[in-house]
Amino acid sequence: KFLRRPLIAGNWKMNMDHRQGITLLQKTVWTLQDANFTFDRVEVAVFPPFTDLRGVQTLVAGDDLPVAYGGQDLSPADEGAYTGDISGAFLKALGCEFVLVGHSERRTLHGEGDDVALAKVQAALRHGLVPVLCVGESLEVRQAGTHVAHTLGQLSAVIGQLDAATVANLVVAYEPVWAIGTGEVAGPADAQEMCAALREAVRASHGDEAAEGLRLLYGGSVKAANVAAIMAEVDVDGVLVGGASLDAGEFANIARFEQ
Ligand code: PEP
Repeated sequence: KFLRRPLIAGNWKMNMDHRQGITLLQKTVWTLQDANFTFDRVEVAVFPPFTDLRGVQTLVAGDDLPVAYGGQDLSPADEGAYTGDISGAFLKALGCEFVLVGHSERRTLHGEGDDVALAKVQAALRHGLVPVLCVGESLEVRQAGTHVAHTLGQLSAVIGQLDAATVANLVVAYEPVWAIGTGEVAGPADAQEMCAALREAVRASHGDEAAEGLRLLYGGSVKAANVAAIMAEVDVDGVLVGGASLDAGEFANIARFEQ
């Protein structure tokens, strides 16, 4: 089924201090290695808090762990008088491959709109990071039945400013806000409906290569028990996992969705 390398991503949010983070990552990787997990077939990435990243870099580089990692956010600016912000350059210097942009918790708790998401995606690209752009509708929008138009609007606000080659390497995570941390999972058919709509929108605006290259993730209460059905959907290339990524065994079982 997979035309693109599946990506299983864990967003730790504001959990796990720098010591706990190291233990969690070690346990996760050891569990997968014990199960002879094929890391070259399925990409595993974690998104720890900023304060964990130096430790994660040391662990991953020192033990040659086959996992990628990234920041949960970045500044639209490269450096300067932006107290509390973190530059994409700093993330890149710590070995980050990815960075989350526009997670619904940034959009709601920090009032970040599509303009901020675009500026952050552009900053990520300037520093050689792969942005994982998060899009998705609230419960209100879902109930109004305008979730597809809403989510496509979030996507086009960003990719409208990017060329096809850039879009082909992007990761977009569809995360219906009503399914995040609620235990409420969008059904595999809902995930497929939106991922197909996202891919077709990319095809229309940027062509086949961008549409076929782009990786689309589903996020929202993903667990080992529901991941296989979601990953079976043709336009779903991976999952973004919040709560369940904090348990090494559970996250390892999510990554092992094929077994
Ligand atoms: C997330 O916030 O990216 C997420 C999908 O969270 P959870 O898995 O806890 O719903």
